[in-house]
Amino acid sequence: MPATPAYPPHSAPRLFVDVELNDGSEIRLDGSHAHYLLKVMRIKQGDPVKLFDDRTGEYLAHVTTVAKRDLTLLIDGKARDREAVPDLWLCAAPIKKDRFHWIAEKATELGVAKILPVQTERTQGPAIKPEKLRAHMIEAAEQCERTALPSLDPLTKLTAMLEQWPAERHLFFADERIHATGEGSFRKALVAHDGPAAILIGPEGGFSDSENEMIRALPQSVAVSLGPRILRADTAAIAAISLWMAGRGDWNPANA
Ligand code: SAH
Repeated sequence: MPATPAYPPHSAPRLFVDVELNDGSEIRLDGSHAHYLLKVMRIKQGDPVKLFDDRTGEYLAHVTTVAKRDLTLLIDGKARDREAVPDLWLCAAPIKKDRFHWIAEKATELGVAKILPVQTERTQGPAIKPEKLRAHMIEAAEQCERTALPSLDPLTKLTAMLEQWPAERHLFFADERIHATGEGSFRKALVAHDGPAAILIGPEGGFSDSENEMIRALPQSVAVSLGPRILRADTAAIAAISLWMAGRGDWNPANA
């Protein structure tokens, strides 16, 4: 007796839809969603599709009608609630375009709750395009079975970010100069500071002296080292997020 395939087959396409979903509702997809399902995935009437909305969770749906440029699906049931996301923000100065997209994609996979692009004195590269950035984040979430997306803030000047910094949030400031001083143990910083957190990473040219002082003047800032070697900004971002996720995030099994 052939084993009945697990429903939906793992290969069922999985899409983020930016509208609240609920059981039994019908949804019409057009544009890029329809193009992907109809032309790339060659989806047919009755085929299963997984949808998530970054609000309530992930649902199982199936195709009810197919047209040339759009299709409708009926939601059959909720598969999962939206996942809990560790309360970590990534504040990073934009670097060359495609590398900043890479940071946004990896930060999404690693589970940050918010990405806050920070305009600093030495920020290079063209202005970021939020919709392109968000498209990379969505694609990462779709492929990695995520049910939540980081929120994406508009590009914010460092001074403004510091002025409106939330009182209860620690700002782990990755300072590439601090290692030689013997200060800045990230491990100790994580032990000492629990609760809402953010990581701040500078641009390729680093922070200026005055920026370094301004950041350190913030009561919530904690200067941390990412080791004796200078890392590229994208490497630093991923390393710092990983350290926080292992130290204060949700990477350790509950009973560890
Ligand atoms: N100023 C140097 C390095 C900038 S690297 C240069 O001009 O190349 C970009 C950012 O990555 C830094 O601002 C810092 O936030 C982070 N970073 C890189 N290496 C680091 C290290 N060893 N420790 C802490 N932060 C680091």
